[in-house]
Amino acid sequence: MKKIFVTGGAGYIGSHVVKALGERGFDVLTYDNLSTGHAEAVLHGQLVVGDLSDSELLRRTLNHYRPDGVIHFAAHIEVAESVDNPLKYYRNNTLNALNLWEILRELNLSNVIFSSTAAVYGIPEHNPVTEETPPAPINPYGASKMMSERVLADLAAATRDFKYVALRYFNVAGADPQGRIGQKYRNATHLITRALKTAKGEYDGLQVFGTDYPTPDGTCIRDYIHVDDLAAAHLAALDHLAAGHGSGVFNCGYGHGYSVKEVVAVARQVTGIDFRVEEAPRRAGDPPALVADSRRLRQATGWQPRHDDLDFIVRTAWEWEKRLG
Ligand code: UDP
Repeated sequence: MKKIFVTGGAGYIGSHVVKALGERGFDVLTYDNLSTGHAEAVLHGQLVVGDLSDSELLRRTLNHYRPDGVIHFAAHIEVAESVDNPLKYYRNNTLNALNLWEILRELNLSNVIFSSTAAVYGIPEHNPVTEETPPAPINPYGASKMMSERVLADLAAATRDFKYVALRYFNVAGADPQGRIGQKYRNATHLITRALKTAKGEYDGLQVFGTDYPTPDGTCIRDYIHVDDLAAAHLAALDHLAAGHGSGVFNCGYGHGYSVKEVVAVARQVTGIDFRVEEAPRRAGDPPALVADSRRLRQATGWQPRHDDLDFIVRTAWEWEKRLG
């Protein structure tokens, strides 16, 4: 594989994957409508500014580029927004994805890497969660991703020359260690980003959503994975398909988690700022613990994490936050 087409390559995770593809010598074309992404985050290859719903432009761009692999990130990702506006999520994350698969079939293109999410598991009974756990999403965001995965699975089963890998991301965090790219959303809802913005003084205090969960310190446990390790999982997935393996679904996480209180302690220590923390009620739809069993990814592709270190994750995110000003 040489040429990779990346939808959403100007976004947080997409831009780290484009960087990694560039470092490995791939030719890359990013297709992004820049609704939440940033042109300057695309460190490698070409950028075509376009919407997934613009089938004509998408078809023309794909047909002209003829990629060997396609990585599909472009999607809406806010759980709360998906609850308020489900159709927005089903339209973009499910319908536009289906539209993309159709165009790929029409042009006889294959090797899709799909960004999926641990949200497909809903509130799992057991942790760490394996890929065998039946999907049971509890919000439209998770459901919209689950449906796209299902369409891919059915399509691959029906089509000999079509293969895909779905990667189910756990809690992605951190930034480029060189400080060039990182998370840059208008609404920061994720714990680490929110904690660091509180340290910067953007918020008066950090709310801890729920302190009465059945966990050792009463706060929720998540499996935080550095965005560069996640990016490496995408390259491992491409290699996996290139080596002739079949389609697959892989969890992306480290296999162990940290509580909200532990994350807060690391954020205070890394920033050196004793920012205000207040206990708040549980947030709707939060499972007490969500930890990846990532043995399948490791065994099938040889992927190995390089930054399994919460301190490093928070430090790179902090350096990036400071650059944002
Ligand atoms: N969380 C919190 N305060 C915040 C943001 C998040 O206590 O300001 C908690 C949230 O309830 C969850 C964990 O941190 O238990 C991770 O939440 P995040 O939104 O980062 O990711 P999610 O696991 O929902 O994808």
